[in-house]
Amino acid sequence: MREYGKKAFVTKEMAEEIAKTYPTPFHIYDEKGIRENAMALREAFAWNRGYKEFFAVKATPNPYLIDILRDFGCGCDCSSLTELMLGEAMGMKGEDIMFSANDTPAEEFAYAAKLGATINLDDYTHIDFLEKTIGYIPKTISCRYNPGGYFSISNSIMDTPKDAKYGFTTEQLFEGFRVLKEKGVENFGIHAFLASNTVTNEYYPALARTLFEVAVRLKEETGAHIAFINLSGGIGIPYKPDQEPNDIRVIGEGVRKVYEEILTPAGMGDVAIYTELGRFMMGPYGHLVTRVIHEKHTHKEYIGVDACAANLMRPAMYGAYHHITVLGKEDAPCDHLYDVTGSLCENNDKFAIDRMLPQIEIGDYLVIHDTGAHGFSMGYNYNGRLWSAELLLKEDGKVQLIRRAQTPRDYFATFDGMDIFDKFKFE
Ligand SMILES: *Cc1c(COP(=O)(O)O)cnc(C)c1O
Repeated sequence: MREYGKKAFVTKEMAEEIAKTYPTPFHIYDEKGIRENAMALREAFAWNRGYKEFFAVKATPNPYLIDILRDFGCGCDCSSLTELMLGEAMGMKGEDIMFSANDTPAEEFAYAAKLGATINLDDYTHIDFLEKTIGYIPKTISCRYNPGGYFSISNSIMDTPKDAKYGFTTEQLFEGFRVLKEKGVENFGIHAFLASNTVTNEYYPALARTLFEVAVRLKEETGAHIAFINLSGGIGIPYKPDQEPNDIRVIGEGVRKVYEEILTPAGMGDVAIYTELGRFMMGPYGHLVTRVIHEKHTHKEYIGVDACAANLMRPAMYGAYHHITVLGKEDAPCDHLYDVTGSLCENNDKFAIDRMLPQIEIGDYLVIHDTGAHGFSMGYNYNGRLWSAELLLKEDGKVQLIRRAQTPRDYFATFDGMDIFDKFKFE
């Protein structure tokens, strides 16, 4: 088994130093890694004149981090009112905001339209719903496509779009374009998200082929002007140390080949490529740093840490693997079998089950890897557990607080103004 490795970007000494100011647990993000990766993405798609990445805000809704991506020309992909508000607060212009929601409330369409965001419709019936809500159909609009069936690459099934709630069927897409064109749409976009967390360089090129082929037919059959094709998210990261990372340059080149094979000959060489990557942009550049507070020897060997699923839900929710490094013991043999657990009164609150790790002692700092996307943002307050702080490890080595930890006061804030609230004294 080849090991690509998983090296933490913080050391034991750094963790100890940081914890003096910001107690564990905390999420910390690596500015240098984020920048290098965003640069590589931009270069990989530099062949396409209109290329733009709209960062999927839901992955890591922190304006300090999104601001780093803006240096590389990224906009944001929002799917809710507060995500739109975040983009607006950051001064994003309409063309920098993609609104890709589903089961969308009327007020969110209205808000997106007010900001001038590009609206990506999830369903045929939303054409009517949008028009009734805002009183017009924008000149530029996008439709989300779901071809159904299975999405396969090289004979292996990657995902099952037929079971996904998103998008228009092929028939609805053609009819939708006709209807939208009649309503005055001048620039069309096509969007699809057909497989998640793909760790292969073949996903985007295969998705691009599906979308480019349908785009040519849509142009020919409806006369629509297709301005952009949105490959959305889905480029994954190697959560496990034996997984080979994606090579974004190979992916960009793969999409270019399909573009030149299908779109250019069809007279569509001006179509802009958009992406809405979340995980790929941030995932590897976040760590959840937590300290060991207990060890328990019963039917299994347990290591109890001060973080829990409220700080990182993926293992509990999907059984997802997150690599763990015991800081200061990077080179020690992994000769102990542990379950690493949080404190929730839920038996699925485990960051690792039957994991071989170096011998762990109380007080050790653990890095839980790849928490930069769908990590903090999926946090919740079950058991009254509070959200941790988010920190940014700057390129110059300094650490910046980019979101403070929640306090009991925050937790109880939604009782504000109610008589029972008077009984709590927080100050
Ligand atoms: C979640 C999501 C993304 C980002 O997905 P990743 O797996 O993080 O790349 C992009 N677009 C839409 C519409 C999404 O819902």
